[in-house]
Amino acid sequence: MKQTNISEAVLRAAGRIEQITGPDRALRQEPMSKHTSFRIGGPAEMFVIANTEEELAEVLRICCEEQAEHILIGNGSNFLVSDEGYPGIMIRLGDGFDQVKMIEGTDTEVRAGAARLLSGVSSFLTERGLAGFEFASGIPGSIGGAVFMNAGAYGGEMKDVVASVRLMRPDGSEIIEMSGEEMGFSYRHSIVEESGLIVLSAALKLTKDDPAGIAARVADLQSRRNSKQPVNYPSAGSTFKRPVGGYAAALIDEAGLKGYTVGGAMVSEKHAGFVINAGGATCEDVLAVMRHVREEVYRNSGIMLEPEVRLINCEL
Ligand SMILES: Cc1cc2nc3c(=O)[nH]c(=O)nc-3n(C[C@H](O)[C@H](O)[C@H](O)COP(=O)(O)OP(=O)(O)OC[C@H]3O[C@@H](n4cnc5c(N)ncnc54)[C@H](O)[C@@H]3O)c2cc1C
Repeated sequence: MKQTNISEAVLRAAGRIEQITGPDRALRQEPMSKHTSFRIGGPAEMFVIANTEEELAEVLRICCEEQAEHILIGNGSNFLVSDEGYPGIMIRLGDGFDQVKMIEGTDTEVRAGAARLLSGVSSFLTERGLAGFEFASGIPGSIGGAVFMNAGAYGGEMKDVVASVRLMRPDGSEIIEMSGEEMGFSYRHSIVEESGLIVLSAALKLTKDDPAGIAARVADLQSRRNSKQPVNYPSAGSTFKRPVGGYAAALIDEAGLKGYTVGGAMVSEKHAGFVINAGGATCEDVLAVMRHVREEVYRNSGIMLEPEVRLINCEL
């Protein structure tokens, strides 16, 4: 297990951040199990909610000046945080980033804030008869996390709908706009990963369609999800990325690993691609399942699975 070492830099940064946001939005020792869909994870030294771009810029500037470890969290639906917690500043975007509205002068483009959940964006678009985002309606993430990951499902991905993205430099010094092409979208990846840029909002380009037809497609995808995925258990969705030349779930199933359990973590019986928290799972339980799955799949197929879930302060 990785040892948590709260550096002086983090403590100094935390003290300065608290002065800006007040203690109500700068929580000390905040359990990450409260903020992740896995319901797993020890405390972050500080969990700060930045409500405006100015506040976010200030928080980032402080973290950089103090050289304090920090990371953005969206809706926490692709996070596996160590049982020891996160020895740094976990930054979440608040109310000022939770809007979605039509872009003036267009009738098919909207701007959605990074904190807005995909389900909320989907409802907004369905009501207005704007199609193309149905694929994302059941993904339990935020716009920020979805752009970061180029989230996708059922043949669609963010790449298909993102016209441009508003981003903040990692040190809070500047806001820039990048086109969809400049975002370097590929399978579950965007330029955000290696650049450390922060997604503030995304402009989405849709097409006009009948609201009832869009609603029917959203409902159909939701029922397909409910019937195939272990939606009643905490998880982080697909644990592993789709490898070249195969599907992780099929490889795991073929290796006979459905139901494989360590402590409270289990390879779902319903969908082998999901490791679920079947009750009281620790991060170590999940990692133990993931390690075993990787070894067995490699032995069985010669394919080494790579995690899709973001590992925070822990490793395989
Ligand atoms: C039941 C279930 C089903 C799922 N199904 C799918 C699916 O069909 N397809 C799919 O692609 N995924 C799926 N997922 C995984 C997950 O929902 C997506 O990856 C989603 O895009 C993550 O968004 P988030 O806001 O929760 O991001 P988080 O998990 O909070 O963060 C993910 C990454 O994005 C970064 N990040 C978050 N916000 C920002 C920001 N504003 N700026 C810069 N970086 C940021 C974080 O630092 C982190 O590295 C599923 C998860 C669950 C639990």
